[in-house]
Amino acid sequence: MAINVIGKTVMRSLFGKPATAMYPIIKNEFYPRTRGRIELNVADCIFCGMCDKRCPADAISVSRPDKRWEIDRTRCIVCNFCVEVCPKNCLNTGKQYAEPMTDYTQRLVTITGETVQENA
Ligand code: SF4
Ligand code: SF4
Repeated sequence: MAINVIGKTVMRSLFGKPATAMYPIIKNEFYPRTRGRIELNVADCIFCGMCDKRCPADAISVSRPDKRWEIDRTRCIVCNFCVEVCPKNCLNTGKQYAEPMTDYTQRLVTITGETVQENA
């Protein structure tokens, strides 16, 4: 019985469609509700700090006097709370995953005014 099950699994694996894609040569399409990475439309941001206060992972830091918005991508769990509480609808979970990091300092993305700084 067990051999029969194993045999079916082996045959399915040998002749069936692959379960994985040859990334990055082949890229899967994102689903409509994909939560990729948090992105800010800084032109609409009023630096109210609501996203900072509500983030359960302490990933966002906002300074109103400095007009600075910062996210630590290694802390973000893409829960979407910040998107939901933003009064200006200027946050979204872009359909793009965060880039792989080669250095821990690359985790911070700082936006001051209209300047985006991806720390490297
Ligand atoms: S909640 Fe929205 S408007 Fe307020 S600081 Fe965050 S991103 Fe900016
Ligand atoms: S998606 Fe969730 S964890 Fe990520 S920054 Fe927003 S509130 Fe924080």
